[in-house]
Amino acid sequence: MSAADDQPAGAGKPALEFDAVVIGAGFAGLYMLHRLRQMGLSARCYESGTGVGGTWYWNRYPGAACDVESVLYSYSFSKELEQEWNWSERYARQPEILRYANYVTDRFDLRKDIQFRTRVTSAAFDEASGRWQIRTDQGDRVSATYCVMATGCLSAPKNVDIPGLEKYQGHKYFTAYWPHEGVDFSGQRVGVIGTGSSGIQSIPVIAQQAKHLYVYQRTPNYSIPARNGPMTPEQQSKVKANYEEIRRRQYNDFIGLVGGIEPVPTNKNSALAATPEEREREYEYRWNLGGLYFYTSYADLFDNRQANETVAEFVRKKIREKVRDPAVAELLCPKDYPFGTKRLCADSGYYETFNRDNVTLVDIKSKPVETFTAKGLIVDGKEYELDSIVFATGFDAMTGALFNIDIRGRGGIALKDKWAAGPYTYLGLMTAGFPNMFITTGPGSPSVLYNMIIGNEQHVEWIADSIDYLRKRNRRTIEPTAEAEKSWVAHVNEVGEGTLFVKTNSWYVGANVPGKPRVILPYLGGFDVYCKKCKEVVENGYEGFVTA
Ligand code: NAP
Repeated sequence: MSAADDQPAGAGKPALEFDAVVIGAGFAGLYMLHRLRQMGLSARCYESGTGVGGTWYWNRYPGAACDVESVLYSYSFSKELEQEWNWSERYARQPEILRYANYVTDRFDLRKDIQFRTRVTSAAFDEASGRWQIRTDQGDRVSATYCVMATGCLSAPKNVDIPGLEKYQGHKYFTAYWPHEGVDFSGQRVGVIGTGSSGIQSIPVIAQQAKHLYVYQRTPNYSIPARNGPMTPEQQSKVKANYEEIRRRQYNDFIGLVGGIEPVPTNKNSALAATPEEREREYEYRWNLGGLYFYTSYADLFDNRQANETVAEFVRKKIREKVRDPAVAELLCPKDYPFGTKRLCADSGYYETFNRDNVTLVDIKSKPVETFTAKGLIVDGKEYELDSIVFATGFDAMTGALFNIDIRGRGGIALKDKWAAGPYTYLGLMTAGFPNMFITTGPGSPSVLYNMIIGNEQHVEWIADSIDYLRKRNRRTIEPTAEAEKSWVAHVNEVGEGTLFVKTNSWYVGANVPGKPRVILPYLGGFDVYCKKCKEVVENGYEGFVTA
């Protein structure tokens, strides 16, 4: 081995200086880069993948699609872009969303400031210079005044916490980082572990290919038919003519599910005050609309268990109608947690898939997977031989991607240590002791309970405005006060405690990752309310922040 072999990749690279570093080239990072450049700042974006798109770059599993209508799940910052781009379907599939991300990147000439195949390993605030010192796995040494963590909410896959995985000799696939060349399951015995959104989207497609598919289900999920279909030229024109109004409704809404091609009303009434016939009509309307619109079907569904039970039972009835084998149908019916408090899923033929002769549902709630073996896995003493296993087992949500970077603030404090009992942020945007470090759609913001592209746009604009504020006043740093942060975290918790979300073991509360503190991660007060708060903070001279 020569001396050079001992050097880390890229050793000896010259140190670089930028006004801002952006970590991650998903939808948040791309727009952040664009805004920074528009403001005349020098910026570099680091991205571990070989291309842009974030979630949509990595999650290439069969059936991957967005479950928010594409005319809503798209950038609003450029009117020209809105008019230029044509979505081919109501819910775009992963390849089309990735094409869109690439189109935006080239249209705004962003690629030249993105360094791909580069993972940021550490980011430390240097108090003497007031700058962030950033290191990458490619040996880059970079300093920047501002550091933006555009690292994503669902981008750090969770470790497989089932024993014996190393013994398994067959093919392993993870929905969260699917091979770019695709996978052909023809003639194979395939197992899928996980029945969240990723499992529910991929299972119907894999079932069509596989010789036999075994679905290993721990917790059944509530899923609504997506009712995807092509967008007609008339629909395209109608949306483009009405975009301003569509965006206005989106921005002024609690959850942003306002309808894309056609407006969808939010029902502000109580489910319990309605008659059974009225409820049936309302739920049938939402069922036929498809997708996530049940979230806005009644006002009390998420704070009253009895109200929630009315919709839960409606969906169970639909599952029983779809699935021919009554025992299988019962296994697929969620019964022990409220509807929608694990993220609701939208599917294309999920329940019907269990009517196929080549599909077997295996309950691993009552009898968990004992171990993997060289040939497959064992449940209830029985070995299932599998050519391939697909892991749709989810993410270390909202904090995982941040903790994968060694982030250190004032006094060398590690973010991981500061957040050991749960994330501590002011508005989900910043955390005290980490000046000039911004987080897009961080814990404590509506984030995953709103539309991720529009939520990220609002954050990027708030961040850009605050940088502009500092520069115009010749101030070097901004960070929240400990008091403002404490009272925001208390508010996030209080709002969360008033809902049924905190009662369910989901990734919203960190319950899917063993040992993770149980804390409500997103802000449940609504996007409209949250935006008003962000605006007020600015109007009051960045109330709750210290600038120096
Ligand atoms: P997920 O919702 O966390 O689902 C993971 C699944 O794996 C659950 O069924 C879970 O069971 C199971 N699982 C995890 N560990 C297991 C173990 N050790 N043994 C057995 N089963 C295990 O993850 P996801 O499906 O990847 O979705 C995550 C989020 O990404 C979604 O909620 C959504 O927000 C987003 N997403 C969105 C779309 C879209 O269309 N826009 C598509 C995919 C994902 P338990 O429930 O029992 O833990």
